[in-house]
Amino acid sequence: MANRKVSVAVTILILASGAMAQQGAQNHFDGKTWWDYIKVLADDNMEGRETGSDGLRRAEAYVVEQLKKNGLEPAGSDGFYQPVRFESRQIVEKDSSAALVRDAKTETLALGDDVLMGTRGVPGLEVNGPMVFVGYGLKIPEQNYDDLAGLDLKGKVVVYIAGSTEETPAALSAHYQSIAERWKVYRAAGVSGMISIPNPASMDIPWSRITANRTRPNMVLADPKFNDTEGLKLSLTVNPASAEKFFAGSGHTFAEIAAFAKDRKTLPRFPLAVSVQAKAAIETKPIESANLIAKLPGSDPALKDEYVVLSAHIDHLGIGAPINGDSIYNGAMDNASGDAVLLDVAASLKKSPEKLRRSLLFVFVTGEEKGLLGSRYFATNPTVPAKSMVADINIDMFLPIYPLKVLTVYGLQESDLGEMATQVAQARGIRVQPDPEPLRNAFVRSDQYSFIRTGVPALAMKVGFDPGSLEQQKFKDWLTNRYHAPSDDLNQPVDLSAAAGYEEVMRGLMIAVANDPQRPRWKQDSFFRRYAGD
Ligand SMILES: [Zn+2]
Repeated sequence: MANRKVSVAVTILILASGAMAQQGAQNHFDGKTWWDYIKVLADDNMEGRETGSDGLRRAEAYVVEQLKKNGLEPAGSDGFYQPVRFESRQIVEKDSSAALVRDAKTETLALGDDVLMGTRGVPGLEVNGPMVFVGYGLKIPEQNYDDLAGLDLKGKVVVYIAGSTEETPAALSAHYQSIAERWKVYRAAGVSGMISIPNPASMDIPWSRITANRTRPNMVLADPKFNDTEGLKLSLTVNPASAEKFFAGSGHTFAEIAAFAKDRKTLPRFPLAVSVQAKAAIETKPIESANLIAKLPGSDPALKDEYVVLSAHIDHLGIGAPINGDSIYNGAMDNASGDAVLLDVAASLKKSPEKLRRSLLFVFVTGEEKGLLGSRYFATNPTVPAKSMVADINIDMFLPIYPLKVLTVYGLQESDLGEMATQVAQARGIRVQPDPEPLRNAFVRSDQYSFIRTGVPALAMKVGFDPGSLEQQKFKDWLTNRYHAPSDDLNQPVDLSAAAGYEEVMRGLMIAVANDPQRPRWKQDSFFRRYAGD
């Protein structure tokens, strides 16, 4: 009996330790190192890390120092660095103008209050043209849907409202609303310019904040092969509060359009009674910045030449219009928080006795805030063979501002990565859910989309919330008050244990993908599979 008792006790112990491992009792992170990294990267001294700025250079030098200290290998084209060339495009408002013309009468539009001048058009070109309202302005072959059908748009300027009909799945909606896809369709129809009206039902930040920084430079990748809007003469964004002026005399009102768009109803399409006259003076300038790439080599002879990518953007908005006397847009959550996860996970896995079969790549990209530019450059000019990247897990503003009970997984149902993330999270008692707000287009709004477009299966994750919960209100408040504002700084409440829990899931997922015999694949019915050609 005594012996038997012992063996029962041993069995219980083994079961218990198994269960504990499952429950995630093994913890590698405490949230403190994470916050320590953020304290450096989001310090005022980094001046908001704008692409091309000295502040970003200092932040990158700090990251490189940490990577070296933690024993990671350089995997850029110049040590840890991959230089990227940009062109900055800045509106010169005093030489720019926009107006509505009706019966030879001109009504000036105020730059800022009424419209924002886009920087994608031809600098200094005066555009004068009739306008056509094209609803959502989308052409979606998969749905046999075409807002342009039957309209004569040759030489005209199209006006559209952001959004899509309720029949449109989120992935298609997001993809076809991208500037590149829109312009392909408009250009084929002979359109000369495009004017967008944000959908008031899905605006993340108020117009006043958007317009406060309207003369800050935009950027494009210098290599013309990345130009998505060749031939575009004019682009404008209209303040929804001023949009009624565009519809006067057309037989429709913007109020009516916005109400339909809020409910994702089908929209009427019609010529506007006013034409537009505009000129954008744009100052261009070359800018240099860099991505950072570090490697942790795998150990399996057959798989070590394949890479699992963990990515996060390191740039932010820099110094801009002051809000409450503060002009430094520190970007603590957006996205020093993601860079800190990369540093923590890289250090932890380097130290770990556990062998990884595939190699890992830690990629800190520049130019995200300028339109996913650094990641686009890396994904199309990777410093490892393109086909060797088996997955990208991207981290952008994962918002550990409340406890981690549920993870929102963008791309959950799109590839095998969804199931792997689910398993890793559930083993730690964390639920997963798909994007609860597909209309915000989050899956294609950060750097994972650059990888997706080159065929790499990808995922992104945030600390989630249940609909109608207090957390959802906190999330909304954060977007309204801190997102892309100087108050996304070191003086905000964060939940260190939520951050640590998130890091455990990232670490676990990297191990799971690195060691899986099969590389992840897009689901057979996933929209994004088209890019992979498999
Ligand atoms: Zn951002």
